[in-house]
Amino acid sequence: MKILVLNSGSSSIKFQLLVMPQETVMAVGLIDRIGSPKSVLKFESNGKKITREIEILDHDTGVSIIVETLKNPELNIIQSVDEISGVGHRVVHGGEWFNSSVVLSDDVVQKLSQCCELAPLHNPANIKGIMSAQNLLPHTTQCAAFDTAFHQTMPSKAFMYAIPYAYYENFKIRKYGFHGISHQYVSQEAAKLANIPYSEAKIIVCHLGNGASISAVKHGKSIDTTMGLTPLEGLMMGTRSGDLDVGAACYIMRKENLSVDQIDTLFNKKSGLSGVSGFSSDMRDIQNAAADGNERAQLALDMFAYRVKKYIGSYAAAMGGVDAIAFTGGIGENSKILRAKILQDFDFLGISLHETANNTAHGDTIISTDSSRVKAMVIETNEEIIIARDTYNLIQKNTV
Ligand code: ADP
Repeated sequence: MKILVLNSGSSSIKFQLLVMPQETVMAVGLIDRIGSPKSVLKFESNGKKITREIEILDHDTGVSIIVETLKNPELNIIQSVDEISGVGHRVVHGGEWFNSSVVLSDDVVQKLSQCCELAPLHNPANIKGIMSAQNLLPHTTQCAAFDTAFHQTMPSKAFMYAIPYAYYENFKIRKYGFHGISHQYVSQEAAKLANIPYSEAKIIVCHLGNGASISAVKHGKSIDTTMGLTPLEGLMMGTRSGDLDVGAACYIMRKENLSVDQIDTLFNKKSGLSGVSGFSSDMRDIQNAAADGNERAQLALDMFAYRVKKYIGSYAAAMGGVDAIAFTGGIGENSKILRAKILQDFDFLGISLHETANNTAHGDTIISTDSSRVKAMVIETNEEIIIARDTYNLIQKNTV
């Protein structure tokens, strides 16, 4: 069965076509700069790579170009759209409504629209992608997989904020958490690599990319995570501040007479690695500059690692121990410097880093010593597989 996975952003659509249940990837690609006369289509299949510059003004055109490319006889991927049985959409916010992936219906789309207020940058774009795919591939079963769903197992003591309860009752103000599809995939793979049944394992997943979050996954369920009502809470990120005293926000707003939108931009787009270093949100630049003696880059690096370390400690406490710590995302998968910095002096918790394994890690790798009680590892995230699996399973269930 062929499943198309779509990840629609405000100006981009990432896609993969997979054969399920074999999980074979037939094609993978990206449409970037939607809305500009110089949009870009990047496409890879059977070792062939295509990059084309074309005008793609909206998501409808984007999805139709993806479908046309898949049908291109020269690429020999599919002959007809009828071969695609399902479309799995990545959706950022499912609020409290969805604790797992679902088949899309008018009612579901209506609920996603209501979540737009909670994810104004993401959900409207996700919905555009859904509408386009529904128009262009009406014969397919369309499903949604949510970034928030995996974290819906958090207990109320973890997801509630200590503010007047009416804000939860009236506006659903609480911690939701994000990157859930990645945390789910990586925690499952981590349990396999550590050779512990998923239902018995205590795993800390560090998803460190431009956006970064950590989750505590106990016995297959997320019991806490660092991102909150929005993806701003928790770790220091590329351009986001992560945790800070709300009092600091009030103080800066008063001092500089900033509007709500201005303070929102300050903490979401001008803070984090970028704000502290003063020159880049990219961890590679920060590492290089720190190595050249740039003090602010060194400070940004130290702060980033320290916050990850603190959350690992606190999640080990929350779970009553930890069996495995998994690193993923652009930084987690690629930065041996950060991983070593985060894991140093963790002997008291039973973590001992294998330096050579850490320095040469490629793909899913254990980076702790054989005698380390806690297994540290690198796991390459694969959100598309989870979306394709869920879509496949929902189609199977619906046709029984
Ligand atoms: P996003 O959240 O946008 O998906 P990614 O997961 O792609 O982000 O991660 C991007 C981050 O990964 C950037 O900060 C980038 O510098 C960092 N990164 C990628 N490769 C390396 C590397 N070899 N060493 C250190 N950082 C890296």
